[in-house]
Amino acid sequence: MDELKKRAKELLETGAVKVVIGYEQGTGNKTRAAFIQKPEEVSRLIFDSRCVLNLAVYLNKPEVKQIGKPAIVAPIPVLRAIIQLASENQFTDDNLLILGITPESKFVEFNKLADVETYLDQHLIEIEARDKEILEKLDKMSVEERWNFWVEELSPCFKCYACRAACPMCYCHRCTVEMNQPQWISVPSHQLGNIEWHFMRAMHLAGRCVDCNACANACPIAIPLNLLTKKTLEEIKVSFGGYKPTLTGGHIMSTFKPNDKENFIR
Ligand code: SF4
Ligand code: SF4
Repeated sequence: MDELKKRAKELLETGAVKVVIGYEQGTGNKTRAAFIQKPEEVSRLIFDSRCVLNLAVYLNKPEVKQIGKPAIVAPIPVLRAIIQLASENQFTDDNLLILGITPESKFVEFNKLADVETYLDQHLIEIEARDKEILEKLDKMSVEERWNFWVEELSPCFKCYACRAACPMCYCHRCTVEMNQPQWISVPSHQLGNIEWHFMRAMHLAGRCVDCNACANACPIAIPLNLLTKKTLEEIKVSFGGYKPTLTGGHIMSTFKPNDKENFIR
């Protein structure tokens, strides 16, 4: 952490960046995002296992953009989100500095997005064993049982959209769920409305979700909505050989290869 703080201070002192986005102590035992703009405030920065917010979500916020060039504290899920966002033309090497944190909590600075991409080759997305177990159980269910499982899990959702707000990949200026001309998704949080919202969201994130779990961590009533995106990750592995964020894109839902398994496309 000392190395990270030292570098953050240097960057702010020299004016190389205008803000360092990192983690700080929040209320209770929680951590929260910190937006450090003065060198003397870098002592607020912390990093430990409680730092699970995906800070990349702030890179697209107009309030953050208007401060000027940021440096961002980036453990692996944040690094993945940065590469995915860069592949979607959300930023380039010129408007971002990356203060990486390895899984061993070591500081590593990246000068180029391409270096992050190479580094991530050693850290491919792997669904955790306990989630895999749940997904396997779901796979073994009949269609009706699976439908009932999801209806029950999603029924408490009251559409606060905290999951969407926490997701770095949900950055559309206007979300489909808020359109009423035409209205694609039912507004109320009844059974149909909840199923439509969550399935639409999972498909929108297929081939883009970096499996950071920020959405599920943000849900005030602990709906396991990340199981849906984990399922799409597993399906992508079976059908397309897996997903990893790359600068050159080639997104699952927007590209076609002649050897894709989707026979109906040929
Ligand atoms: S859908 Fe959830 S797990 Fe996937 S990138 Fe967004 S916040 Fe992370
Ligand atoms: S955070 Fe939870 S309650 Fe809020 S919209 Fe998402 S799933 Fe529903």
